[in-house]
Amino acid sequence: GQFHLQYQPQISMDGRRVVGVEALLRWQHPELGMVSPAEFIPLAERNGQIIPIGSWVMRSALRQLRAWMDAGLPPMVMAVNLSAVQFRHPNLPELMTRLLDEAQLAPEYLELELTEGAAMVNPPQAIAMMDKLHACGVRMSIDDFGIGYSSLNYLKKFSVYKLKIDQTFVRDIVTDPDDRAIVCAIIQMARSLGFKTVAEGVETAAQRDFLARHGCDEVQGYLFS
Ligand code: MN
Repeated sequence: GQFHLQYQPQISMDGRRVVGVEALLRWQHPELGMVSPAEFIPLAERNGQIIPIGSWVMRSALRQLRAWMDAGLPPMVMAVNLSAVQFRHPNLPELMTRLLDEAQLAPEYLELELTEGAAMVNPPQAIAMMDKLHACGVRMSIDDFGIGYSSLNYLKKFSVYKLKIDQTFVRDIVTDPDDRAIVCAIIQMARSLGFKTVAEGVETAAQRDFLARHGCDEVQGYLFS
C-alpha cells in the first residue's frame, strides 16, 4: 500500500479542455520517504516486479477514470506509461482487454505511452505488438520523442496516435533557435504522418504561445498543474 498515482492533466491548446491525464507512479516509503521512480523502476524492470506493478498501475488508473466519469466529469483519456518489459510481454493485449472490461471502459479511453527506446529494441516485434493493441482499440503514443534512438523508417510503420515532445526541447524554446527549429520540425512531421502532438514540461505562457503558433495540439506541464 505504499504506491500511489498522481495524475497530470493534458490540456487542449485553447486551454479549454482536459483531453486526458497521465498517471504517474509514486512510492512513499515509511522510512526512506519519497523514492524516485528513476530509482525503483529500473530495479523493478531488472527483477521482473514491473509486471505486477504495471498491472496494478493500469488497474488503479482505469478504476480512477471510471470513478471520475461516474461522478459526472467529462470523458477523458487515461495515459499510462508502459515499460519495455511490459511491452514485450505476450499477454499484454489480453491484460488490457480484461482491465478495460473490469472498469467498464471503452478501449479508446486508454492510451499507452511507450518510449522510443522501448519501441526500437526489436522494431518488427514492436510493430506486431502495436498492431495487436491497435486492433483492440487502444491508443499508443511515443513518449520523450526526439531524445532516444528513433528510426523514421519504423516510425511510419508504428500504429501510433500521438508524439510526446520531450521537455528538454520545450525548456528553452523561447530563447534557443535550435530547440525552436527541432520542435517545429517534429510538429510538422507528426502532422504529415497523421499523428497528434503533445508538448511535455510546459511551464510558462511564452512556451505555450510558441507551441500554439506552430500547431502543437496539446500541452502538459506545471503551467497548468
Ligand atoms: Mn510519459
